[in-house]
Amino acid sequence: MNKNMLYRSIPKVDILLENAAVQELIGRYSRDTVMESIHTELDKLRKFIGECEDEEAAKKQIELLPVNIEAAVAAMHTPNMRMVINGTGTILHTNLGRAPIGQEHMKRLAAIATGYSNLEYNLDAGRRGERYSHFEELLCKITGAEAAMAVNNNAAAVMLILSSLARGGEVVVSRGELVEIGGKFRIPDVMEQSGAKLVEVGTTNKTHYDDYESAITEETKALLKVHTSNYRIVGFTESVVIDELIPIAKEHGIPVIEDLGSGVLIDLSRYGITYEPTVQDSIRKGADVVCFSGDKLLGGPQAGIIIGRKKYIDMMKKNQLTRALRIDKFTATALELVLQEYLSEEKAIQNIPVLRMITRTLDEVTEEAGTLCGILKEAGLPARIELEACESQIGGGSLPLERIPSMAVAIHPEEISVAELEERMRRLAVPIIPRTVNDTVILDVRTIERRYFDVAARQLKELDWGKI
Ligand SMILES: *Cc1c(COP(=O)(O)O)cnc(C)c1O
Repeated sequence: MNKNMLYRSIPKVDILLENAAVQELIGRYSRDTVMESIHTELDKLRKFIGECEDEEAAKKQIELLPVNIEAAVAAMHTPNMRMVINGTGTILHTNLGRAPIGQEHMKRLAAIATGYSNLEYNLDAGRRGERYSHFEELLCKITGAEAAMAVNNNAAAVMLILSSLARGGEVVVSRGELVEIGGKFRIPDVMEQSGAKLVEVGTTNKTHYDDYESAITEETKALLKVHTSNYRIVGFTESVVIDELIPIAKEHGIPVIEDLGSGVLIDLSRYGITYEPTVQDSIRKGADVVCFSGDKLLGGPQAGIIIGRKKYIDMMKKNQLTRALRIDKFTATALELVLQEYLSEEKAIQNIPVLRMITRTLDEVTEEAGTLCGILKEAGLPARIELEACESQIGGGSLPLERIPSMAVAIHPEEISVAELEERMRRLAVPIIPRTVNDTVILDVRTIERRYFDVAARQLKELDWGKI
C-alpha cells in the first residue's frame, strides 16, 4: 500500500475551509474552535494512516474527516456536565451530586442568580448587609440555636470552627470518632490544617468520661464530638454522650463542638427510618457549636452549616478564613428556600426531593415501578423486563446500615451481557446509571422521579441491544 499517496489525498486546510459543512460550522460556532478541530483531526488521521496496514480502512478514515471535524467541534461546545438518571437507589449519591434541588426552588434560584440581588445589602437600612442574614433567623428558629452561618461544605465548617476556637491550642477527641469522610479526606487531617492540635483519647471501641477528664489541660481549647454517621462500631463499645461532656467543659470554660455530619432536622423514625440524632437534640443537650452538611439529609445545596452560641459564631464570622470559605448567592438562596420548608414538616417532606424519596412508601414506589415497567415492556426491547423487590440506601455517609425496602425494574438483556448493557446505558445522551445485582440490571424506582420515565424509555428503545 502506498502511504505517500494516501497522505497526499488528505484534503488541505484551505480546501477543508471551503467545504460547505465546515463553513456552516464556522457560522454556528467559531472559526477558532473549527480551526483547532481541523488541526487535531488532521493529526489523528495522519497518525492513523501511519499505523494502519489496511488501505481501505485508511481511505474510509480520510472520507470521514469532515464528519469527524464536525463531531469534534460539536463535542467542544457540548457541556460535559450532564443530568443523569439515578437508578442506583442510593438517595444521597456523592458521585451523582448528592441532594437534588427541588424544581420550584430552582425556578426561584434562577430568577435571583440571573440578576442582581440583596445578597449582602440590607434593604431596610440601605447599606451593607450580611449574606447569612437570609437564613440565620430561620436556622435559629428551627434548631433553637442563638446564631448561625454557613460555609462551602461541612469539611470547611470543621476547619473554620477549630481555627476560630482552638488555633494554637488542643482539642480533645475520641479515637472512636476519627472519621474518614470519603475521597481520602480525614477529620484528623482537616483539623491539623486548622492549626489546632488533636489530642486523641480512648480507644477505637471504648472511650470513657475519665479519658476526657484526664486529657484536659491548660492548653485545651475545646472538646470535639464527631458523629460517626458513615460507620458503626458495634459490640463491646462505649462512648461518652454529649450531655456528659457539657458539665466538665463548663467547669473549664471551654466549648463542646459537635460535627453531626449529616444534619437531620426532622425525626425520620416516624417514617420507618432508624432514629438519627437531630440537630435540635444537640442544641437542646447544650452543644456550644454544631456543624453539618447542607446537601446530606438536609436535602439542600452543598454547604457547611454552623450553629451555636452567638459569641462563638461571631468569632467565626470575623475569622479571615471565612472569606476564603464563603458561600455564594446560589447557596445562600437555596439554603433559605430549603430551610423555609422546614417550618412545616409536611411541606419539607413534600418539597425537598431527598426527604420525598426517603419517605415514599413501598406501595407508592411499587406503583411507580409498575408504570415504568409497563412503558419499557411496551417498547418491545430485546430483554426480559420485570418488577423486582430491592433495597434502597440513604448514602452520602448517612445511616450506613439503613436499607429501605423498594421496587425496581429488572432488565435481563437477551443478546448482550449485563456489563455491556450497563456500559451502553452509561453512554446515553442522558446517561442511566443502574445497579447490577446477580447478573441483572436493575433500576430502583425510588430514585427515579416520574418525569424521567419517558426519556429513559425513549433512550432504551433507541439503544443498540445487539452484539457488536
Ligand atoms: C460528610 C461528613 C463531613 C463532610 O461534609 P461535607 O459537606 O461533605 O464536606 C464531615 N464530618 C462528618 C462526620 C461527615 O459525615
